[in-house]
Amino acid sequence: MHISDSIETIKGVGDALAQKFHNVGVKTVEDLLSYYPRRYNDFSHIVPIAKMRPGEVTLQGTFKQITGRYVRGGLHITEAVLSDKSSSVRVVWFNQPYRSAGTKTDEEYYVSGMLDLKRGRMVITNPSCELVSDFPVNTARIIPIYREVKGLKSTAIRKIIKTVLTSISDVPSTIPAEIARKYKLINRKQALGYIHFPETLHDVERAKYRLGFEELFELILASTLLRNEVVHEKAIPIPFDRKVAQKFVQELSFTLTDSQRATIWEIYQDMAKPHPMNRLVEGDVGAGKTVVAAMAALMTAHASLQTAFMAPTELLARQHAETLYQLMLPLGQQDGVVLLVGSMNAKQKKAAYQRIASGDALLIVGTHALLQEKLDMHSLGLVIVDEQHRFGVEQRKALLKKVGHVPHMLTMTATPIPRSLALTVYGELDISIIRQKPKDRKPIVTKIIKHSYAPDMYEDINSELARGRQAFVVCPLIDPSTSMALKSASEVQKQLQQGPLKQWKIGLLHGRMKADEKTATMQDFINRKLDVLVATTVIEVGVDIPNATVMVIQSPERFGLAQIHQLRGRVGRSEYQGYCYLLLDDDSAPSKRLRALEQSADGFRLAELDLQLRGPGAIYGRQQHGALDLRMVELTDTSLIKAAREAALACAQKHEYLLQYPQLQERITKLQKVIHLN
Ligand code: ADP
Ligand code: MG
Repeated sequence: MHISDSIETIKGVGDALAQKFHNVGVKTVEDLLSYYPRRYNDFSHIVPIAKMRPGEVTLQGTFKQITGRYVRGGLHITEAVLSDKSSSVRVVWFNQPYRSAGTKTDEEYYVSGMLDLKRGRMVITNPSCELVSDFPVNTARIIPIYREVKGLKSTAIRKIIKTVLTSISDVPSTIPAEIARKYKLINRKQALGYIHFPETLHDVERAKYRLGFEELFELILASTLLRNEVVHEKAIPIPFDRKVAQKFVQELSFTLTDSQRATIWEIYQDMAKPHPMNRLVEGDVGAGKTVVAAMAALMTAHASLQTAFMAPTELLARQHAETLYQLMLPLGQQDGVVLLVGSMNAKQKKAAYQRIASGDALLIVGTHALLQEKLDMHSLGLVIVDEQHRFGVEQRKALLKKVGHVPHMLTMTATPIPRSLALTVYGELDISIIRQKPKDRKPIVTKIIKHSYAPDMYEDINSELARGRQAFVVCPLIDPSTSMALKSASEVQKQLQQGPLKQWKIGLLHGRMKADEKTATMQDFINRKLDVLVATTVIEVGVDIPNATVMVIQSPERFGLAQIHQLRGRVGRSEYQGYCYLLLDDDSAPSKRLRALEQSADGFRLAELDLQLRGPGAIYGRQQHGALDLRMVELTDTSLIKAAREAALACAQKHEYLLQYPQLQERITKLQKVIHLN
């Protein structure tokens, strides 16, 4: 058996079971071995029957008198007596008729289960039970507990993993032998054995260290190698001109925050170098990233080079074009701003193409599709990507082919990635963090609303709407593969229209609408033709609608904290007070996570909390977490991160390693392909 074999090849895995594994993303033997336990139950302590106490117990003994029978209502009962040298105890199984025939009376068994005192007699009900002579996986040891999903039980997973671990010959590693020795790492096969079936909890620790080390090592090495490549690429330097920057800042209607100043200074220094900048600007929603990007574009225009400014949606692109126009006005650069988006007509597009090709257009604003356009952008000096985390290898290559050189790159994201995580997974990027928010911002009032208090909430919303304000209602994406999400949002729209928000015009926005329909609906909302917008989470990131002051989030427990924080950033962007209501599905007590949202307005703190409580998946969403593949690492484990980092950096110096370890080369290529995480 090989780790790349599909799980169907494992003995005991039929089509039905294989399908269940597929549902949790397990397709190969390797996936299966990486389906790590969530936690363990310690059944390793075997007690003599005479000394057992009610509760979870593990016993060792032989069975006597096993009998099975059906009783009233078709219920099946198996009864047995388990004895060891010290005493005996009654054992009962319900509806497991195979027990009486399948259990031998002349062999020793381990029995783990719940011991109760019933009518003055001790009895163990429905225990797990395994031959001592076998390799026990459900009893008499530290038992792995897996994430169980529809019909896939831990017992079934244990059985299959045991089959694999006992028949697999070799598990290739991506860690060079020399490094494994230096950091005293146990080998991969042993680590996998320990993680699933540890003898002691110390085994679990050693396995976690080994597997976590490998994950980090690969990721850091992949991004470091990428960085080394980028460092050697040539770019056109964009000289810093103090006067131009000063004039821009003087003309602004506000004062830049210190964070904004520090960030723009880092960008100017990077761009002045003959190698491409590759910088990520992280700033919470409303931190003021656009103006920072505008300053980078301004300096580029001043050097007579073009900037491609890309936004995730057309609407946002339109908004950015408008903002840039206004910002460039005092400097006389406004005519260089050109919009290019899919919904423009042929004539408009042609005009844009021409201005781009002639070099008149210095600030080209569009969506991420800008790079796919057949554009002649030979004097491209800077690429700005808004609301994205990283610009992938493939995109860089596409760009290089298109313009013949690598421009400077600036990506901006509002996803607050804690520094520990950022340094680990974005090793190829330089990072600027805008931590401060503009001074005059009022914090958004956030309230958790239990289901039965919804009428009071709608009353408050009605009075906000009556003051001329607008509201968003966001519904969770229940299952993106079905039409459920769509149904839930349109149902919510109907309910609100019939009941609590009757007198208002309510629009609907969801992921299945065509791009131009979405844009039209958003435009109606911006123009106040709609008072309320019910949406799935497609609601545009970064959109600035100052008149919207209310954000209702339905079923907030389904969202990550960072995500809710992003959403509430859509309101309270003006002098009006913003409100965010987290509407629970029922009246139960809200979780600690949600309560944190009521108390904190700091996206970074919330992200750190989510990271602690739910792991990286909470920040990125499930798919994106899959790309990161940090399953084993606890990002608070700084000594592990330090060791893996040191090893990866040393390895990046030694080219022969990659040649010697094809497995490592393969992983690295795969990781480097993981492009933007949005
Ligand atoms: P984001 O970082 O979420 O992209 P924006 O760039 O859209 O935020 O900025 C949000 C709003 O804050 C804009 O209206 C912008 O003009 C304003 N703004 C930006 N910087 C400052 C500042 N230093 N002081 C006051 N307002 C600012
Ligand atoms: Mg923005």
